[in-house]
Amino acid sequence: MTFDALSSEAYHADLLGALKKYDPDIYKLIKREYHRLQNSIQLLAAENLCSRSVLAALGSILQNKTSEGFPAARLHGGSGIVDEVESTAIERAKEVFRAKYANVQPHSGTTANQIVITALLERGDKILSMATSHGGHFSHGSIDSLTAKFFEIESYRVDRETFLLDYDQIRKQARQFRPKLIICGASAYPRIIDFGKFRQIADEVGAILLADISHLSALVMGGAHPSPIDYAHVTTASTYKPGGPRGGLILAGRDYDMKIKVAGKEAVLWRQIEKTTFPGLQGTPYFNNIAAKAVFFKEAGSKEYKARQLKVAENAKWLAGALAKKGYNLLTGGTDNHMLIINVSGISEGLSSPAAQKCLEQCGIVVDKMPLPYDDKPAMTGIRLGTPIVTKNGMGAAEMDRLSDLIDGVLKNIKPAGQTERTIEQVIAENIRNKTKELAARFPIR
Ligand SMILES: *Cc1c(COP(=O)(O)O)cnc(C)c1O
Repeated sequence: MTFDALSSEAYHADLLGALKKYDPDIYKLIKREYHRLQNSIQLLAAENLCSRSVLAALGSILQNKTSEGFPAARLHGGSGIVDEVESTAIERAKEVFRAKYANVQPHSGTTANQIVITALLERGDKILSMATSHGGHFSHGSIDSLTAKFFEIESYRVDRETFLLDYDQIRKQARQFRPKLIICGASAYPRIIDFGKFRQIADEVGAILLADISHLSALVMGGAHPSPIDYAHVTTASTYKPGGPRGGLILAGRDYDMKIKVAGKEAVLWRQIEKTTFPGLQGTPYFNNIAAKAVFFKEAGSKEYKARQLKVAENAKWLAGALAKKGYNLLTGGTDNHMLIINVSGISEGLSSPAAQKCLEQCGIVVDKMPLPYDDKPAMTGIRLGTPIVTKNGMGAAEMDRLSDLIDGVLKNIKPAGQTERTIEQVIAENIRNKTKELAARFPIR
């Protein structure tokens, strides 16, 4: 394809058309993914839908720029414009999170955590973090993570009866273990996290506090969950979960320029984090992605976005209530945020989450599976549902009721098929599938 018109508009126009011509294989897969999303219900806590403006920034000529370093301190020439792009993203991130420091370069939430952890600790230092099987994220120290390979990890767990964080127990553990870093924030925890209490515990034992709000950042920006920014020394997040581009983010509040000791030398917190971002763990930033983050932070500052986050939490509460009324066993009995976790083991003899997930998906309802705390059954028994996408598509209380009926219709009709397999009868599945399609069609991606 050649460009007669030497304009940015012509260059960026009809990108999908260009792909269709050159690579029908990938073009068709993208098309199939679009239709999959339009024809099923995404009840996912770890996923969202970014705007078309965010997509445009991702698919722009900014993708090509190679430039290492930070704004006004680059190693490569021709970086004036990407300096402005990155500075805009930083300013908007600081504004929307009320932070004093923002780093928009991390390629992912996992990398953001790795950067902070290696910036603040030395090999072999101690980390106290939430057990992966109790809702913590892999990057907080699960056995196969880089974090566990280079640092000494101790895990805190939720209470055996209530499945809530037990701050007294965490304090006890911290006093005994004397960690240099405490990590709070979870991937599977449906209740409010008290960042203030975590900071008290960290201060008592002289630890640094990292709050990972990958799952909560949307609610934090929208005012539907307390902010950790001034409680934690450092806060990290993924940027796709709240509806931005894929990527990570590092933030700091009042402690952003505090002095820390690393390898016997004094360092300033935010500078140490920048050094560890580049050249520590990453090379060149993705400027298309950083531009997309800037666009997203502009959206996140809007009244509409904030109102929607309240609605996300409201919908989750409503759906949890509707399912509880039907007798479903929800972890902690309900939710304060955007997710609910169902224990499927009591629904029918031997039902596990892989089977529940498979049958729900067959009926057009997409959910995640996960292990439950203190569950020693051979197969996983938790499924996690989230309301960000259905809320973005415009659903409200009536649709949450409808979804609870459809979910119930699937889960209570799963039957054993042979020794270990579980299935749902074809006629029942088709019937529900048609209903979810109908519902999805009324709330399309826009
Ligand atoms: C999703 C998640 C991450 C990881 O983000 P990626 O961008 O997928 O690497 C980190 N921490 C928590 C708590 C998460 O839920």
